[in-house]
Amino acid sequence: MNNAAIFSMPVAVVAAVRRRTRATEFVAIAVAAAIVAVLQCPCGAAAQDSVSVAATDGYFDVSRIDADTWAISEPQYWQKNNSFVIKGQIRTILFDTGSGTRDIRHMAGNVTRKPTTAMPSHVHYDHIGSIGSFDQVAMVDLPVNRERTADNRYTPSLSMSLWPFSSSFMVTEWWKPGEKIDIGGRVLEAVSIPGHSPDSIAVIDRARGYAFVGDFLYAGELYTFLPGADLTAYLESTKRLLADYPEVKLLLCGHGKPTMPREALVALQEALSAILEQRAAPERVWRLGGLIKKYPGQGFSILAW
Ligand SMILES: [Zn+2]
Repeated sequence: MNNAAIFSMPVAVVAAVRRRTRATEFVAIAVAAAIVAVLQCPCGAAAQDSVSVAATDGYFDVSRIDADTWAISEPQYWQKNNSFVIKGQIRTILFDTGSGTRDIRHMAGNVTRKPTTAMPSHVHYDHIGSIGSFDQVAMVDLPVNRERTADNRYTPSLSMSLWPFSSSFMVTEWWKPGEKIDIGGRVLEAVSIPGHSPDSIAVIDRARGYAFVGDFLYAGELYTFLPGADLTAYLESTKRLLADYPEVKLLLCGHGKPTMPREALVALQEALSAILEQRAAPERVWRLGGLIKKYPGQGFSILAW
């Protein structure tokens, strides 16, 4: 609201607006303080293998994976996205920035006061919704990303983002595949895992046994029928994850339930092999206006042409 508008309003109305603004601010501050208190309270600690909601602002739910790792979920959004706060002693990586239905930055700021770098698991529109709210953005140095980048500004194509209105964003950091990135007492590395999309990546925390996998695997319908999806690449990526990262015990997933065990990767390898070897029996379902094959998996299913 600008000053001219305020001066043109009757004094009583202005006073009422100001009273309401103060009340709104007070409520917002109280909610933020409560969220911070819950997040920092050791009594809120959950067991390593369970994920329960520790705090909510009414839209985003925050769940504790461990003392330095949090899921920020959007249970009201139709795709039920999960983004992940990966805290180090120096800085934080926010793996995915949500659907953009609401700006995730304020909630990430409640979870960590460290400088935060956003990093997309891939650039489908529902994972880069609030990426423009972050000054620091990291991407993996892959040809598929570089070819859409000029002067460090990444511009998603329609076939990459699947949404005609996705904005471009600045990339401030490029991670080489397999490069060890120390965020302060915590070393991460990124790996290319094409399959769901050509630009899909996982971030691995070997010491904690975590793989943040975005849409590569979650407990729901896995999309392999969208532009850029590739079943053969999907299987190769799955085999590589299993072979190169024996430490990984927990998968942090982009939709639905935030975690799955390593065994789900083994089941994915079997399910993809069965499709490619034409051993799997699909049912036909309508999805996004097309008649798609739906293959069963253990704890998930795979949608393909
Ligand atoms: Zn997604």
